[in-house]
Amino acid sequence: MKIKSSEFVISAVGPKQYPDEGLPEVALAGRSNVGKSSLINRMLLRKNLARTSSQPGKTQQLNYYRINGELFFVDVPGYGYAKVSRTEREAWGRMIENYLMNREPLKLVILLVDLRHPPTALDRSMYDWLSHYGIPLCVVGTKADKLSRSQLPKHAKQVRETLGMPKGQPLVLFSSETGAGRDELWSIIEQAADL
Ligand code: GDP
Repeated sequence: MKIKSSEFVISAVGPKQYPDEGLPEVALAGRSNVGKSSLINRMLLRKNLARTSSQPGKTQQLNYYRINGELFFVDVPGYGYAKVSRTEREAWGRMIENYLMNREPLKLVILLVDLRHPPTALDRSMYDWLSHYGIPLCVVGTKADKLSRSQLPKHAKQVRETLGMPKGQPLVLFSSETGAGRDELWSIIEQAADL
């Protein structure tokens, strides 16, 4: 995918603010600090479009980015904030669940997990939930550069086994530092969004 343009569109707090241009949407989800902003920036070849570092005050916004006027990335706020109240977490859940279950232009959810550690209970419940509802899903293991080449297969296996991923389902080993996995992830996105 050749990136000709990318821009921030809106931080949507509810369905009324979701764009109605009819473009396909690819959502990115993962717990805070997993490397989601860094991945978005690397995919779009932008230094600082998606702000790195988590924003605990903005747990209930979907951040839309338009790419080449033909696709949206939708940054789903990181789950698993320790500091937000139970009420806030529940509100987060409802809004995200509604979006993920009912959003017609949504073509793919990219679930990010930190490749260095086994997926957490929250990662697992997110994976199970998406799978249960048959939402098209691609798992990305982040921060691959922090592992040695010889460690990678072991860690990839750990992610696959902990999540219970079926054999054919791709696991992209990604690094925002080196760009590893970028081309592979783009071709998965292009296929899912029918670009
Ligand atoms: P977010 O909270 O999921 O948006 O995570 P960020 O993108 O802000 O990344 C969290 C931290 O991990 C930052 O310090 C990043 O520099 C670091 N990080 C993210 N991706 C990578 C990566 O691929 N390799 C390395 N070495 N560090 C990364």
